[in-house]
Amino acid sequence: MEKNYSPATKCIHSGYKPENGGPMALPIYQSTTYAYSSPSEIGKLFDLTADGHMYSRISNPTVDFVEKKIADLEGGVAALCTNSGQAASFLAVTNIASAGDEILVSSKIYGGTTNLFSVTLKRFGIDCTFFDQDISGEELKKLIKPNTKLIFGETIANPALSVFDIERIAAVAHKAGIPLIVDNTFATGVLCRPIDFGADIVVLSTSKYMDGHAVQLGGCVVDSGNFDWTQNDKFKGLCTPDESYHGLVYTESFGKLAYITKMRVQLVRDLGVYPTAQAGFLLDLGMQTLDVRLARHCENALTVAKFLKDSGYAEYVNYSGLEGDKYYDLAQKYLPKGQSGVVSFCIKGGRETAVKFMNSLSLFKNAVHVATVHSCVLHPASSTHRQLSDEMLVKAGIDAGLIRISVGIEDINDILNDLKSALEKTFC
Ligand SMILES: *Cc1c(COP(=O)(O)O)cnc(C)c1O
Repeated sequence: MEKNYSPATKCIHSGYKPENGGPMALPIYQSTTYAYSSPSEIGKLFDLTADGHMYSRISNPTVDFVEKKIADLEGGVAALCTNSGQAASFLAVTNIASAGDEILVSSKIYGGTTNLFSVTLKRFGIDCTFFDQDISGEELKKLIKPNTKLIFGETIANPALSVFDIERIAAVAHKAGIPLIVDNTFATGVLCRPIDFGADIVVLSTSKYMDGHAVQLGGCVVDSGNFDWTQNDKFKGLCTPDESYHGLVYTESFGKLAYITKMRVQLVRDLGVYPTAQAGFLLDLGMQTLDVRLARHCENALTVAKFLKDSGYAEYVNYSGLEGDKYYDLAQKYLPKGQSGVVSFCIKGGRETAVKFMNSLSLFKNAVHVATVHSCVLHPASSTHRQLSDEMLVKAGIDAGLIRISVGIEDINDILNDLKSALEKTFC
């Protein structure tokens, strides 16, 4: 039944369902622990032979309802929330990769994830190879080694704004017997469901559009339930006995839920990255308006992108919804409802005019954050890529005049007026 609802309805009604006479709003179960009537019932929880909450480092009823909502929105069988997007990416990878393994990652992904994979995971013995996401399937296939455990990309990359060809890359991964993990943060299940195009696992930073109001960090991992972990001997952790649960085998005991169950009862149990009930409540509240907010974000962003392109002050504008954009065709396929609220453009005159322009804005705030109701700007050359010289910036594909704009849901006339007046002040 529920599977037939459209995203806007799922955002409100999936997950928590009030009982007759029960509270309409999702209750906050503010409890670290759960009461049972006998030790044998608790014993069953430890053996994973009974369902139920045990301790809020592993699960909590409020968060559980949000997980069900997100799984439903993304078209997966199960989801697990974390207290940041970084934690979600870390769990998604280390649930199936260990020391001695390698992961194949699009070079366009978010900088924070790049650090996590290429610096921190490397210290844990997991090697990360970056690939250009626009290469052919043949070339990509050549990069897959016997110890490669997964391919990782971003639906809409932050801040490159490139669109990932999910279906094409999933086919290459599946031929090699490995899963595709897609970071769907900028699109969310409202604009694109990577699982419908063959992605096996979805990760999300809920700190962006899903929360939407810049109030709290969060992340989520969603499993499609489609990948067969037993097809080869690459995923032993899922298919061989886990000594910490008396030799239980996840794929045998949990079927399609094997991947998320292992992540919860092993990694989340051990690492302490589970969100609080309050966090679950706020995320659920934010998600109720996700569909309406994103529609407005996309509409405003496309208008801003067109305005900047026609202004005469931009060297170029990146927004995959703009006709003529390198990723326009892929965006029409994967993101037909809109391409998020994030636009970037390179201002004429480089670093100096970029700074002058950004100083002249008043509605737009300078902020490191993106993808919330507020309009914000960021200058990568003086923030996230500050350590690089202008020549190094060019090599990294970041021009000194590049400005990332996160278009909010304010009135479009106020947004355009702020941009216009700042451009006039900059170029007068
Ligand atoms: C912000 C972001 C992350 C990291 O999420 P946090 O919640 O900040 O830890 C991961 N991926 C993408 C695409 C992001 O934009």
